[in-house]
Amino acid sequence: MEKKNLDWANLGFGYMQTEKRYVSNYKNGAWDEGAIIDDANIVLNECAGVFQYAQTIFEGLKAYTTEDGRTVTFRPDLNASRLADSARRLEMPVFPEDRFIDAIEQVVKANMEYVPPYGSGATLYIRPYMMGTNPVIGVKPADEYQFRIFVTPVGPYFKGGAKPLTIRVSDFDRAAPHGTGHIKAGLNYAMSLHAIVSAHEEGFDENMYLDPQTRTKVEETGGANFIFVTKDNKLVTPKSDSILPSITRRSIMYVAEHYLGMTVEHREVYYDELQDFVEAGLCGTAAVISPVGKVVNKDKEICFPSGMDVMGDVTKKLYDTLTGIQMGHIEAPEGWIKTIC
Ligand SMILES: *Cc1c(COP(=O)(O)O)cnc(C)c1O
Repeated sequence: MEKKNLDWANLGFGYMQTEKRYVSNYKNGAWDEGAIIDDANIVLNECAGVFQYAQTIFEGLKAYTTEDGRTVTFRPDLNASRLADSARRLEMPVFPEDRFIDAIEQVVKANMEYVPPYGSGATLYIRPYMMGTNPVIGVKPADEYQFRIFVTPVGPYFKGGAKPLTIRVSDFDRAAPHGTGHIKAGLNYAMSLHAIVSAHEEGFDENMYLDPQTRTKVEETGGANFIFVTKDNKLVTPKSDSILPSITRRSIMYVAEHYLGMTVEHREVYYDELQDFVEAGLCGTAAVISPVGKVVNKDKEICFPSGMDVMGDVTKKLYDTLTGIQMGHIEAPEGWIKTIC
């Protein structure tokens, strides 16, 4: 299929409306068969559950063109099961995981003109989400839901390569209470906006959140997990019930162990250990890995030896291996790459 005539290499990370999206509705205890539709707008009752009690969850993944010209997605089964986990935690019906994969395939096929060509640095960002749609005024879950997926072509998250970030330790707690930190939901992002805006105002790229009980352990940032590299070449990444289980982080752990022969430690990470690490990074679908050069905690700074100019050597190796697997020039573990066409 002909591609759209877009300036792929110069796309930003923003929303560009495409012609087609996927929608399925849940009513009387069942999902309908779902369809690809044209209308980008949603009309809902003023009292819809999503507006009153924030019953909404989402996922984020990418479709892209491999070196040999296939259109693929990366581990969409993990997005399907994480959306199901988020739904259960917010008392929403689960959208069946096999139907989730099928819906991703349908919506990418319907938007093939927008899948960026290989080598452009751009990808098709895919945003599945679900919300409570019927009126709810007493505090309870909605009875009716809509599941949708839209797509939008996006450029590289960081233009001109990834410069190491400066992060501050946030005074704010990241997550809403009661362990909802491991749910991918707008409510957690809403709770993080004030911390993000104030971090940016003070010249920081992101917030590092500590565990709210003791404020001694590293959790994550607003939208990415942390990875660290030790002096003796181990990969260390924080473990906590209130960290969102990043698919990129889980993939990096596998790549570190099975492709780079590193020892991987997934465990509680104390803030006091940071000064001993030689490299740090943030990981998530949008940027894959962003190096972190410096962490600021009030008047104290921790500067990682990898510095403020380039990605650390180990971080770079992890980045190159994972993106090599995604783009098809390094052999992928069984089941990681889902070919759409
Ligand atoms: C989406 C998200 C991540 C990154 O997860 P990926 O599956 O790697 O994209 C990390 N933290 C939070 C809070 C998130 O919402």
